[in-house]
Amino acid sequence: MSDIHPKLQALNGEVADCTKCPLHSTRTNTVPGEGPVPADIMFIGEGPGKNEDLQVRPFVGAAGKLLEELLQGIGKSREEVFIANVVKCRPPGNRDPQSEEVQSCWSYLERQVALVDPKLVILLGRHAMDRFLPGQKISKDKGQPKRREITGLGVRVYMPIYHPAAALYNPNLKESLAEDFAKIDPILEKIHDLPRFESSRPQLEEDEQVNQTLAL
Ligand code: SF4
Repeated sequence: MSDIHPKLQALNGEVADCTKCPLHSTRTNTVPGEGPVPADIMFIGEGPGKNEDLQVRPFVGAAGKLLEELLQGIGKSREEVFIANVVKCRPPGNRDPQSEEVQSCWSYLERQVALVDPKLVILLGRHAMDRFLPGQKISKDKGQPKRREITGLGVRVYMPIYHPAAALYNPNLKESLAEDFAKIDPILEKIHDLPRFESSRPQLEEDEQVNQTLAL
């Protein structure tokens, strides 16, 4: 991306040199994520797969195609949104990332969220949801936008949904995803006038609170 934000570029450089967890030894490339800075919408998935590892881009395989279709279905394109993962290196054999790996990679994602400063963070699947909304169940809580607030500083909304990869061969999950994508514009309208977070502030600090489900 030619017009990449300088702070994001610096962060991507750190990720490229990272050896903080064992995933560095099996990756071909690091896949930090991509998109505009700032962006109203940020998607956070699990980790790069084989195609992503080779092409150095998130969500370029079949799941990425479905993500793009779902965005097109609500009149948006992937160029408008920021897309990242909880781990920046491919877990071997596309296994789930382990909690120590997610923890090692967390500071990069935290800084990305601060830079992108999204109004709405869409958590793709259980691994992203666990990190931002611990204690929730994807089957029960998917599609329910949650307000997260730092008093006096701003509000951000997080919505967990199924991971597109899970929906590839399951028409019911695909339908559920389309229903949840249809909530994106109403959520953005609802929170349009809320202040953005201060972009330099780290996320998820102790005084940040998860509030009730955002009523649409
Ligand atoms: S997954 Fe994250 S913490 Fe682990 S080596 Fe890659 S960039 Fe570093």
